[in-house]
Amino acid sequence: MSSHPVPQDLPTRIQHYIDGKFVDSIDGDTFDVLEPVSNEVYVKAAAGKKADIDLAVAAATRAFQEGPWPKMLPRERSRVLHRIADIVESRDARLAELESFDSGLPITQALGQARRAAENFRFFADLIVAQADDTFKVPGRQINYVNRKPIGVAGLITPWNTPFMLESWKLGPALATGNTVVLKPAEFTPLSASLWAGIFEEAGLPQGVFNLVNGLGEDAGDALVKHPDVPLISFTGESRTGQIIFGNAAPYLKGLSMELGGKSPAIVFADADLDAAIDATIFGVFSLNGERCTAGSRILVQRDIYDEFVERYAAQAKRVKVGYPHDPETEVGSLVHPEHFAKVMGYVEIGKDEGRLVAGGGQPEGFEFGNFVAPTVFADVKPDARIFQEEIFGPVVAITPFDTDEEALELANNTKYGLAAYVWTSDLKRAHNFAQSVEAGMVWLNSNNVRDLRTPFGGVKASGLGHEGGYRSIDFYTDQQAVHITLGKVHNPTFGKQDPAAEENRPTDLEDPDPR
Ligand code: NAD
Repeated sequence: MSSHPVPQDLPTRIQHYIDGKFVDSIDGDTFDVLEPVSNEVYVKAAAGKKADIDLAVAAATRAFQEGPWPKMLPRERSRVLHRIADIVESRDARLAELESFDSGLPITQALGQARRAAENFRFFADLIVAQADDTFKVPGRQINYVNRKPIGVAGLITPWNTPFMLESWKLGPALATGNTVVLKPAEFTPLSASLWAGIFEEAGLPQGVFNLVNGLGEDAGDALVKHPDVPLISFTGESRTGQIIFGNAAPYLKGLSMELGGKSPAIVFADADLDAAIDATIFGVFSLNGERCTAGSRILVQRDIYDEFVERYAAQAKRVKVGYPHDPETEVGSLVHPEHFAKVMGYVEIGKDEGRLVAGGGQPEGFEFGNFVAPTVFADVKPDARIFQEEIFGPVVAITPFDTDEEALELANNTKYGLAAYVWTSDLKRAHNFAQSVEAGMVWLNSNNVRDLRTPFGGVKASGLGHEGGYRSIDFYTDQQAVHITLGKVHNPTFGKQDPAAEENRPTDLEDPDPR
């Protein structure tokens, strides 16, 4: 194995950050963190349990009930968020270096994710000052307005693919709206998350507003989900974990946002711009090492162009540059962890029985160590194949032919997932009609996954519940209290008005009610 550089000044241990202080776990427990090129332990991280979550939630609750953050003007909070964005931007190279080292993501892509994290804060900083709420007037009778309020302590549970960026996606709107938070980052990749505390302190976020507890999902994550003082859980991760969290949160009737797994189709019709479609579908499944929830990991290709597509696609996939994560030339780095590597390699072996291997199929030449996987392409994959149905979350793609639009749609919808879909055709009518019928939370027509932060993000079926993105994130992290005000005469249906005693003394019609 060749050597690869280790970032300068790596922390010697990773701690929790609770109520403005870095702390170890109460029981002193730690877990090993590996770097994915050598799979060697490079640092130990504090392994949080229920007791640590209790402390973090207590700090966040205090900061919410007694601290200034929820009561600050949106403009004041916005300034803090912009400062956070400035700091993240100014440290993008360091963030990318650490993220790439910890996760195995190629450095150029980790840099893009660091900048996106800054952009997420800037976006919500802008949105919160532009936020307007509804007012409804019934002329002369009533005004009704929406009083938007932060909810309390938000529990944020995040995965290991693009960890820093995905954390920013939740932290940005949760903080912009005045909540306080407890973040439980993924245990495979705790390094970049440990930088938030310093960034937030420098930007002037009040003490206790941000708390971080590291640890395993079934310990720290579970305790956060089951904590009665955490009314909101925003979770991104596997569909199976989402189901468990859904069940565990049910007795507390928590607000849940679930961004889950995917097995998204890219549908290439014969009339598509083939060069663009090939470039996009290569990038769509091999970028971020294929560890991408919206990866177009099933490519459905119309039969007329199928053979040409497969041949060109396989040739290009073989040219995708696998390399060390720190190398700016690298297009596919090392998968995050040996456990995940074993899972992906398991699917590569399954695929050899289920499809025709036309590229990859193991570790790439010169990288027969660590968690490197060659971009792997299977053609002629049947819809009942496991590699067609199950999320692999690595650089592995299944290609399947189709004849008609109806068949393409049937194949596209033939999984339990429904996160994204990509359609390649030059027929506008077909593209829009396909978008209407495909079971996916997000559709890109003749486009790669390029996201406008204002649009809804989320999946249908097993890919998620609820939408985040733009105002939907603001909605998730706030209560919209309706306030009703009478303007004119009070219109009351009067129950219980007839007092029998008053009835007896009431003047009869024979008496003069007005003795003047
Ligand atoms: P995961 O579900 O294993 O873990 C995600 C997080 O949940 C981790 O922090 C983990 O510690 C925690 N967790 C695990 N068990 C828990 C429990 N019982 N209670 C509370 N928390 C628990 O997912 P992963 O392997 O880290 O991430 C990959 C998955 O994430 C893929 O399925 C991918 O598609 C999905 N993902 C989805 C999106 C999206 O927006 N839809 C984005 C990125 C990743």
